[in-house]
Amino acid sequence: MSIATYRGRFAPSPTGLLHAGSLSTAVGSYLEARCRGGQWLLRMEDLDPPREVPGAAADILRTLEAFGFEWDGEVVYQSRRHDLYGDALRQLIASGHAYACCCTRKEIAAAAQRGLDGYVYPGTCRNGCPDGRAGRAWRLRVTPGESVVRDRLQGEHRQNLARDIGDFVLLRADGFWAYQLAVVVDDAEQGVTDIVRGADLLVSTPRQLAVYAALGLPAPTYCHLPVLTNEAGEKLSKQTLAPAISGADAARQLRAALTLLGHAPPAECGDLAELWRWALASWSLASVPLGPLRLRVGSLPGVGLA
Ligand code: GLU
Repeated sequence: MSIATYRGRFAPSPTGLLHAGSLSTAVGSYLEARCRGGQWLLRMEDLDPPREVPGAAADILRTLEAFGFEWDGEVVYQSRRHDLYGDALRQLIASGHAYACCCTRKEIAAAAQRGLDGYVYPGTCRNGCPDGRAGRAWRLRVTPGESVVRDRLQGEHRQNLARDIGDFVLLRADGFWAYQLAVVVDDAEQGVTDIVRGADLLVSTPRQLAVYAALGLPAPTYCHLPVLTNEAGEKLSKQTLAPAISGADAARQLRAALTLLGHAPPAECGDLAELWRWALASWSLASVPLGPLRLRVGSLPGVGLA
């Protein structure tokens, strides 16, 4: 008899410290995994050194620990897994799903329309690079038609990859692996069955489903949690100057994150251990709002979005 196992994960990028938005994603993915009797893995997505903040990876781990998160197994660092991504790319090249592209950003901007996430690649190198030009990046050849994500919270999300995204990058011209390839290779290799993450990544999910399909791998289920925004409706992020959260104020911030996720703890849950006990006993995806969750100035401790 086989017992279905749930394996979730949290996969922060050390391009900044944890803030109220990333905390609520971590809380949601953790509670969903634990309430389903599953494992919860931690993966550091450190594949883009130019965008990384020195010390952020260690700070993120310390902060998660101070909040009382308990992850299963060792933390996985993408920066140590280049061979896996290389193997996957070789497989995609051999099966005709990936092709080399010599186009510069400037050339693409001059020839392409804007789509859902930047320019839609116009397909210049689909049948080979123009004479005398060498490939600089590798792209996935997308297939025509509509891609459907059946999200556990957001419902059906449809996207026409060929029209709205185009053939997308797997290995960048600067030699760095693209998130879209690495995230799929890692989730598959780590046996992740259920992905719970921020709704800002929903636009990426059809690309990731295309990578799973091209590699012949089964896709996980998806649940995209509402993102937190500031009063102007901008997603909380390093770019919108979201303040970092601190383990020193963990109980108040955990309470705030749970409240935003539709699970306001009773006043008598005072400390971290009580809050987690209550949250583990009370968590239900059905109570999570679809969002986006707009924060008012001062509505979260440590979040002064003036
Ligand atoms: N590393 C990504 C981020 O911090 C998340 C990736 C994912 O959850 O798929 O936005």
